[in-house]
Amino acid sequence: MSYAGPDFEPPQPRRFRRGPLTVALAALVPGALLGWLVYATVGGSGDGGARDRASTSASAAPTTPTGPGEPTDDGKGPSPAASASAPAASGPLKGKVVVIDPGHNPGNFRHPDEINRPVDIGTNRKECDTTGTSTDDGYTEARFTLDVAHRMRTLLREQGATVKLTQDGDRPYGPCVDERARIGNEAKADAVVSIHADGSGAGNRGFHVILPGSVRAGAADTRAIVAPSRDLGERVAGRFVAVTGSAPSNYAGDGTGLVTRKDLGGLNLSTVPKVFIECGNMRDSKDAALLTSGAWRQKAAQGISEGIVSFLRG
Ligand code: ZN
Repeated sequence: MSYAGPDFEPPQPRRFRRGPLTVALAALVPGALLGWLVYATVGGSGDGGARDRASTSASAAPTTPTGPGEPTDDGKGPSPAASASAPAASGPLKGKVVVIDPGHNPGNFRHPDEINRPVDIGTNRKECDTTGTSTDDGYTEARFTLDVAHRMRTLLREQGATVKLTQDGDRPYGPCVDERARIGNEAKADAVVSIHADGSGAGNRGFHVILPGSVRAGAADTRAIVAPSRDLGERVAGRFVAVTGSAPSNYAGDGTGLVTRKDLGGLNLSTVPKVFIECGNMRDSKDAALLTSGAWRQKAAQGISEGIVSFLRG
């Protein structure tokens, strides 16, 4: 959920398919799909904290025998040492910095005073953060965003990127939206993606990517990031469609999967290319079935990551 007050702009042309992009990704997809198929085969699902933690230090080679990407390197089984070091040293994204911003924080609901405190987002003041939404069965958006972020971190590190998360469930609440933007700015990130899932009405389905509108007010000046952020967002949307098979939102973006907003502090205060993605609607039962599936989250992470890779490789 990306806070109240949608600020939709007129429909944008659908520009998901790009010749160079298709070519550039052709080499990436087969290996990535192999990783996912292995993951699906071993039946992984759920948030699997131990698996997630293992993947942070060992890239595609988890320390348990049931992890998502285990024998993808040579088919002979896990090889933690090689997988942990080699890809980062030689991957195509070597030298690139990606900041992943997992929306909300699992502890926000315990800190209403802190997260309701207004912060300056340039155009106005807005609450520090929100609790996010959840499925009807209680699977929270905050758990979803962290899980997808962990999967993305593994995938992007395999490509050689330096990856930083704005929060990793390692703080009691937040960060506030202004700090989330600042983390990307101070990291001099080449790309930032904020991960969310929406809390709309039942029957509303699909994903949408939120792009920064042109804002110049107070501390906010997005003029320099509007164009590159659109490029990033289009590539993320295109790869998300391709990998997950999900359709663009049927309730936002007029079928394009792209929505431009000027009311989100995390975008207004960014000085580096940044987009949000609402991966689906937690309050729709069909979307919820996807969002709660570990195998689907792996595909979501894959699609978003491929979009980032495409953007960074140009
Ligand atoms: Zn959200």
